[in-house]
Amino acid sequence: MVNKQKKILILGGGFAGVDAAGYLSKAGYDVTLVSDRDYFYIYPTSIWVPTREVEFKDVCVDLKELQAAHGFKLVVDGVSTIEAKSNRVTLQSGKVIDDYDYLVVAIGAKKMQHPGIEHTLSICAAPEQSLEIRDAIDKLIAKGSGKIAFGFGGNPKDSSAVRGGPGFELMFNLHNLLKKKGIRKNYELTFFAPMPQPGARMGEQALAMMDKMFAKQELYKQFGKKIKRFEKDGVVFEDDSKLESDFTMFIPAGTGHDVVTQSDLPVNEAGFVSINDYCEVTMDSNISNVYAIGDTAALEGPDWRAKQGHVAEVMAKNIAYNIQERDKGSNARKGYIKHLNILCVMDTGDGAGFVFRDDKKAFMLPMPIIGHMMKKGWGWYCRNTKLRKFPRLPRM
Ligand SMILES: Cc1cc2nc3c(=O)[nH]c(=O)nc-3n(C[C@H](O)[C@H](O)[C@H](O)COP(=O)(O)OP(=O)(O)OC[C@H]3O[C@@H](n4cnc5c(N)ncnc54)[C@H](O)[C@@H]3O)c2cc1C
Repeated sequence: MVNKQKKILILGGGFAGVDAAGYLSKAGYDVTLVSDRDYFYIYPTSIWVPTREVEFKDVCVDLKELQAAHGFKLVVDGVSTIEAKSNRVTLQSGKVIDDYDYLVVAIGAKKMQHPGIEHTLSICAAPEQSLEIRDAIDKLIAKGSGKIAFGFGGNPKDSSAVRGGPGFELMFNLHNLLKKKGIRKNYELTFFAPMPQPGARMGEQALAMMDKMFAKQELYKQFGKKIKRFEKDGVVFEDDSKLESDFTMFIPAGTGHDVVTQSDLPVNEAGFVSINDYCEVTMDSNISNVYAIGDTAALEGPDWRAKQGHVAEVMAKNIAYNIQERDKGSNARKGYIKHLNILCVMDTGDGAGFVFRDDKKAFMLPMPIIGHMMKKGWGWYCRNTKLRKFPRLPRM
């Protein structure tokens, strides 16, 4: 029997925080979720905002609706400091929360800062940037021609924090939009990345397929050159060569959130919270009352591991179980590492590639037309399962 009086404070209202709040509320805990925005953002389907296939509101779920569906308490405020050893969290409003039994840190990651980053926009940063990307694209369409560069960067201290997939998805979707408008030939679309084989962690077969797509759709590549800086009209590389662009969409790699790196929580070299397999945080050689889940946590595991939404969800489910078992005095725990895999439906606007990688296999399955519909269907499923309007399917 779970102790109903126990209080759990969850920081962050993304995939990790919202799921943790749902599972822990269901288990009878007194849960408070703090988020600096008043909506949950479905990042995977936000790739369609810039091409106007969906509206911004279509990828937002009101946290008040989620609160009503799950019965947790909601505080819309930013977290400014975490003093884990003193059991104290201070919010930007000045409010102090220090009466919790467990703390769940799920505030995602910060983006790495490159010189001239202000000349770029990212589909993986603040949600509002998807609207700015849309406006930049609209402007270039109105102009009738242009050069557009898409890229992503690496984090040498933590390869799991690198995110390139949405950049490819956005470029393929724009290619399709321009084709539909009959103006594709007027635009030069180039993908750039500092690594010689961006996307390599999806496996050899996926790379070969992507190569074919690039050739067929006349997309240019600029791979294997470190980025020196961004300028208003392009990207300058380490050898001082320049990729000219009228608009640059760049996804910087993730790094530790400032609130985390400035706290007393243990972090890895890149600033992500160090956890064990059960997402528990060890402090002063003891398992503390703090858990870290989702993009904010340092992932252990194979080289190809990646911070993903479904990993955040597994972690959220696991900690709900682990906290309950701990309170029962049992040693039963669930770990996340054995669930690590890469799972993504890489949308192209007129279809998708189903990408899967684990320790045993790596493949990309082309799914013309149906793949695009599947990803759309997943967006509906995500919203409605989170709102408890549709049952969750096993392993989804
Ligand atoms: C464009 C895009 C496409 C993607 N596609 C896929 C995909 O197809 N499949 C997949 O599995 N994954 C995908 N991902 C990755 C997935 O979205 C992330 O792994 C997931 O969002 C991580 O969830 P999270 O809750 O840990 O972090 P986030 O989603 O980043 O949530 C963090 C939350 O914390 C809040 N927060 C931040 N700072 C503070 C603060 N100081 N105070 C209070 N609250 C704060 C934020 O507002 C946010 O609500 C994609 C990501 C992007 C950006």
